[in-house]
Amino acid sequence: MRKRLVAANWKMNHLAADGARYVQALSAAADSWSVEAVVFPPSTLLMLLNRMLSGTGVQLGAQNCFPAARGAFTGEVSPPQVMDAGARWLLVGHSERRHVMGESDEMVAKKLRAGVEAGLRVLLCVGEQEEERDDGMTEEVLERQCLALAGLAPDEAQHVSLAYEPVWAIGTGNVATPLQAQEAHAFLRQRVSELLGAEIARGMRIVYGGSITPQSFPSILEQPDVDGGLVGGASLDADRFVELVRQANG
Ligand code: PEP
Repeated sequence: MRKRLVAANWKMNHLAADGARYVQALSAAADSWSVEAVVFPPSTLLMLLNRMLSGTGVQLGAQNCFPAARGAFTGEVSPPQVMDAGARWLLVGHSERRHVMGESDEMVAKKLRAGVEAGLRVLLCVGEQEEERDDGMTEEVLERQCLALAGLAPDEAQHVSLAYEPVWAIGTGNVATPLQAQEAHAFLRQRVSELLGAEIARGMRIVYGGSITPQSFPSILEQPDVDGGLVGGASLDADRFVELVRQANG
């Protein structure tokens, strides 16, 4: 059985005071959850939130890092630095990193490996753009983006989860249908099986992301290959995020 995972991606939102109020509300609700809940705040808030979330069961992740342990990389933070600040998870390959910051598949793969080697659990985001879906290229894009997983040893792969995030669904209100999500997730699981073996594929969590709300999440969660959600807009409000985690908790 795969344990469900629900993650909040705050992107470049929240200052310390809002972040602190948010995690107070989240920790107050968190005790009876059996799903894994992870918050990905901006890196400026990691230390503060780490202190506040300690002992609550809610985990903390970094939205980004540079694939080197240290060095002359002005403006970047390394995997050991985000761990030092309290992160235990790392997000890589988010569509905004790929399509706004111009990160290549090669860079995404390096970040994934650097995160895993540092001991972080990594959530790798993959997903096609609207034109790619319209041109029938969804599987080709997912297949290419999944190559970031190639060569992971079984004990490394255990620390990696996937997020299927169709770019056309992110921040648009245009949530994928449950069938679209299931088809993509089943394809991804098959691809992971080809790359890393059937046992790893059966155990790997694949969460859906893209305009999730408490209205749309339950029917997506019912799909057999959907193991939770990565939530942007609806995660900015603690009560809405708590509602989504409760839905996944069942
Ligand atoms: C995201 O950015 O990962 C995301 C899924 O955003 P939203 O929920 O706002 O579509």
